[in-house]
Order: sequence, then structure tokens, then C-alpha cells
Amino acid sequence: MSSEEEHICCICGKRFKGYGHNPDPVKVEGCCCDECNEKIVLPAREEQIRKIIESW
Ligand SMILES: [Zn+2]
Repeated sequence: MSSEEEHICCICGKRFKGYGHNPDPVKVEGCCCDECNEKIVLPAREEQIRKIIESW
């Protein structure tokens, strides 16, 4: 349906096609590309989980 729609990544600003990813916790709004999700968002999310576990 709208999977071919173009979006602008809220992290790197590049245009990409597809649904994109939730950029949380890096950004609150918008969506990000596959590359930023893999290189920035996922490590940030892991780091956040690690901090929560360490604070227990
Ligand atoms: Zn991006």
C-alpha cells in the first residue's frame, strides 16, 4: 500500500522508502531509516536497557 512512500529520516535527514523505524530513544518524533535504526537507535536502546539493569 504505502510502503513505497518516501520519508525523510529524522536522524540523518536522508530520504528513504518504506515504513521507517521508531527512533525512540534518540528522537521523540518522526521516523528514521534502516541505517540509522541499526547504527544509532538500536545501540542507544541497548545502552538504555543496560543503564536500567545497572540501576537495580
Ligand atoms: Zn537515517
